[in-house]
Parts: sequence; C-alpha cells; structure tokens
Amino acid sequence: MYGCAIIGSGAAGVSAALTLKALNVSFIWFGSRALSQKIRSAENIANYPGLANVSGAEMSRAFSAQIDGAEIQITEKTVTGIYPSVGKYTLLCGDELFEAKTVILATGVEAVKPIRGELEFLGRGVSYCATCDGALYRGKEIAVLCTQKELEREVRFLASLARKVYLIPLYKNVEITEPNVETVKGMPLEIQGKERAERLVFRDSALEIDGVFLLKAAAPPSAMFSGLETEGGHIRVNRDMQTNMKGIFAAGDCTGKPYQYAKAAGEGNVAAHSVYHFLQ
Ligand SMILES: Cc1cc2nc3c(=O)[nH]c(=O)nc-3n(C[C@H](O)[C@H](O)[C@H](O)COP(=O)(O)OP(=O)(O)OC[C@H]3O[C@@H](n4cnc5c(N)ncnc54)[C@H](O)[C@@H]3O)c2cc1C
Repeated sequence: MYGCAIIGSGAAGVSAALTLKALNVSFIWFGSRALSQKIRSAENIANYPGLANVSGAEMSRAFSAQIDGAEIQITEKTVTGIYPSVGKYTLLCGDELFEAKTVILATGVEAVKPIRGELEFLGRGVSYCATCDGALYRGKEIAVLCTQKELEREVRFLASLARKVYLIPLYKNVEITEPNVETVKGMPLEIQGKERAERLVFRDSALEIDGVFLLKAAAPPSAMFSGLETEGGHIRVNRDMQTNMKGIFAAGDCTGKPYQYAKAAGEGNVAAHSVYHFLQ
C-alpha cells in the first residue's frame, strides 16, 4: 500500500509529487506523461516565478525534466472511483485497484459544464472512461462527446467496439476517419432516459443511443467520490488543503480560483506537507 495517491498531473500534481519525493513518502501518481493540456496550451506565461515569459510547451518541458531528474514515475491511468475503508482508500482505474493511506486530488477543472442528466445517469449509460466501460457497448450505438484532440485515441478505441459512434467534437481539426463514426455538430443539452440513458437531446434534434461517453480532461470530483464537500463546483478545503474527508487533500484549480500555475503549485506543496504530517 502507498502512503499517498496523487490524482492529476498539472502544476498542482507536479508540485505535490516533487514534495512527497523530497519528504520520502511512498506514493503513486496518476495522470499523463504529457502532464496537462492546460500547461501546454498557454501562449506566454509571464507570472510563474523563475520561468519568465515561457510558452506552455516550454514550461511543460521544464516540469518533465524536473520529474525525470527526481526519478518520479507517472502511472498513465484515469482514476474513476475512490472508496474509503478503514485506514486506507481504494482507487479504481478501469478494472485495476490501488490502495493508499491518503489521496491528493489535483484534477484541475473542466471548462465544460455538466449536461442536464449527466450526473443522474452516470454509471447507467453515461461514462467518463472509454477503457473502463467501452466493452459494455460492444456492437451497440453510442454518442461520444470529446472535449480535446488528445482524447481522440479513446474515440478510436470506442469505434473499434461499438457498431456506430456519433462523435460530438468540441475542438477543431477532427482526425477520426473510422467508417462507423459519424460527426455530429452542436452541443447536447440533455441526456434523457428511464432507468438508463437512452437519448441525447440537442436544440433541434435528438440521438437514440445505448450509451453516452463524455471524454473530458477532468471529471467532476463528486462523480469520483461520494461524500466530498464542494462549493460552487470546487472542492472545499482548509488552509492545510484538507477536505472534509480524513486523509483526502486537494490542490490546484479544483479547489477554486484564481486558476493560476503558481497557486496550483503552492497548494500541491502544502497538500504534500499535510500528507506527511497526517502519516506521521
Ligand atoms: C490557455 C490557457 C492559458 C493559461 N495561462 C496561464 C498563465 O499565463 N498564467 C497562469 O498562472 N495560469 C494560466 N493558466 C491557468 C493554468 O493552466 C491552471 O491554473 C493550471 O494548469 C492548474 O493546474 P492544476 O494542476 O490544478 O490542473 P490542470 O493543469 O488542469 O491538471 C489537471 C490534470 O489532472 C488530470 N486528471 C483529471 N482527472 C483525473 C483522473 N481522474 N485521473 C487521472 N488524471 C486526471 C487532467 O487530465 C489534467 O492533466 C492558463 C490556462 C489556459 C487554459
């Protein structure tokens, strides 16, 4: 069992990982080796100490070099659920389980607001994770809302299983060419159904489907973990970055504004120190 599990590889996760490493706490870090799209996409960053007027790509390279130098590994998996038990938390990644005594949520925020019905049908025809739930839709008709080009590999994976995929891309230059994928324009307004999601409703039309995949950079924290207190869509924390759940800490954009690299890195550092003291 790990001392800590960090979820998210943006500035907050990077800072938490570097600090846990320095404090000699055993940890597993879930995210992407490409770190975070939000780190990479900034044109010019003028307000991060020590890195004056760098692009997001340059900052990302600087973070990666520091992680590699500290010999820290990133586990390229998406955490889909967190379950408390006595003295530990179990983290679910698809069909794999990991255990840690504490958790740092550094998941960022998703700019796309939940669609009506999204949280109601989550786990009943609505999924955030292609690799976790894709097999349930083998030979079926699904809708896939994809918020980032980087997530196209998950769309391809779903297209290899489903009979038909209605793709709703929220980005430009779609490069999906699979014959069973039909691109649909517009933003869905609601997911409807009785026991399960059955219909994706747009302003002037609707798709009858067996399931809906919402491929986003960050799922709402409440979807990953029940019982976590939030306020205005952000995780509620105290000055030690402690949430209302014992042993669960949060850092970065997911705890609230300002959405800034320096704030995220600072909070990741505080959360890692709090984990250290908690484990002591
Ligand atoms: C275009 C743009 C320009 C910006 N410019 C600036 C600027 O100049 N200066 C500034 O200070 N700030 C800027 N920002 C804001 C800055 O990018 C954010 O404040 C910062 O990235 C927040 O870091 P974070 O670690 O909280 O979250 P993020 O950077 O959003 O990282 C979170 C990561 O966690 C991953 N994740 C989420 N859920 C899971 C899960 N369940 N399992 C595994 N991984 C998960 C996500 O995929 C993501 O990679 C800009 C943002 C944008 C979009």
